Amino acid sequence: MSTVHLDRAEPLDVVVLGLGAVGAAALWALSNRGLSVLGLDPHPPCHSLGSSHGQTRVFRHAYFEHPDYVPILRNATGTFERWEADADTSLLHRAGVLVMGPEGCPAVEGSRQAARLHGLEIRDLDGAALCKEYPQFAKHPTLDAVFEADAGFVRVERSISTALQLATAPRLHGVGVSQWERHGADRITLRLTNGRSLTTRRLAVAAGAWTAALVPSLAPLLTVTRQVQAWVTPAQPELAEASCLPCWLWDRPGDRHFYGIPADPERPGPPLAKVAVHGSDGVVAPDAVNRMVSTADLDPIKHGLATHVPGLLGPIRDASVCLYTSSPDEHFIVDRLPEAPEVSVVCGLSGHGFKLAPALGQILSDLSVEGRTDLPVDFLGLRRFG
Ligand SMILES: Cc1cc2nc3c(=O)[nH]c(=O)nc-3n(C[C@H](O)[C@H](O)[C@H](O)COP(=O)(O)OP(=O)(O)OC[C@H]3O[C@@H](n4cnc5c(N)ncnc54)[C@H](O)[C@@H]3O)c2cc1C
Repeated sequence: MSTVHLDRAEPLDVVVLGLGAVGAAALWALSNRGLSVLGLDPHPPCHSLGSSHGQTRVFRHAYFEHPDYVPILRNATGTFERWEADADTSLLHRAGVLVMGPEGCPAVEGSRQAARLHGLEIRDLDGAALCKEYPQFAKHPTLDAVFEADAGFVRVERSISTALQLATAPRLHGVGVSQWERHGADRITLRLTNGRSLTTRRLAVAAGAWTAALVPSLAPLLTVTRQVQAWVTPAQPELAEASCLPCWLWDRPGDRHFYGIPADPERPGPPLAKVAVHGSDGVVAPDAVNRMVSTADLDPIKHGLATHVPGLLGPIRDASVCLYTSSPDEHFIVDRLPEAPEVSVVCGLSGHGFKLAPALGQILSDLSVEGRTDLPVDFLGLRRFG
């Protein structure tokens, strides 16, 4: 990593705001382009105040949310693999992913559609086959499921630190941006939280839950909610191991998805499965979040386990609060700002962005430097909101 000169007279080429999942990937993608680049984040690497902590996230490609994400997902998985090779580390664990729910439910049918359209390998399972292969799950009379073997979980903090380690561009932690101002087409002044200022030609915003404060025009489109993730040791601890438990997502029409991730075999100690409910109504301001986990937070998780995954019932050993930043349609926002095309943003990841972060970082780099990207992101543009 090269040194940072905050007092330079010339504007920098690109400043990346936020060095979480997307910003770390953007800094990596912007490195070695022969440009002057700087990454800024008010918090230390891999902190636990935003959206990218808690050991693991699910990655999959048969994407029920929208089949158009599949090429971006393939690109992202390829970059995770490249980081693994370049840093000689292990980021992805292919435990497989089960998507299940009542017959005809959107998550199972959407996974099938994405697989069909993009030639992805998945396997169908009915309720009987599922319970035979995975005794952790409850028998539901009309259960339908698909299994993607080329999927599993990604190690989050290790991925971010690997991207930052491989990025050669300089970065500063402990310094954020409080305000920016555009002066014509090629100069943006940044007011830093340490009282100094900087100029740059392009701004790449990857500030997650803090995006609305930095880009007020996006505030009406972004909602930050408080999420709880919990870790459980089942009565039969081996049932939480990735050798016999895939990641899973249970589509509960009329209720929120319930999902889980097996224990990471690289973590010492008794196997802990991670479980959570996808989404919540707890709207928060990112700097005023109650970080304490209460019994009321854990009740829906315990209920989900008892109803759907009784084989994993057991004491909750740990829990933590994390943030979603959602857009109105729960699809990402990836674009240049109409009022300031020198400013590119990736935000509104709506609780499903980690698996795509390497590609989103690449896209932020492309939009900042070239004003366009080869990756198919038109469906994620701001135009859809009118
Ligand atoms: C409980 C939970 C479970 C999830 N499960 C999954 C899953 O299974 N699969 C999946 O793909 N995704 C999942 N997600 C979503 C995924 O983790 C997020 O979409 C992703 O991590 C968001 O990354 P980000 O870079 O946008 O935000 P962050 O990683 O939070 O980064 C934003 C950064 O901006 C910095 N910042 C703040 N203010 C400023 C400022 N003024 N100037 C500069 N920088 C600033 C912050 O300090 C922070 O480091 C989950 C999220 C949660 C909370």
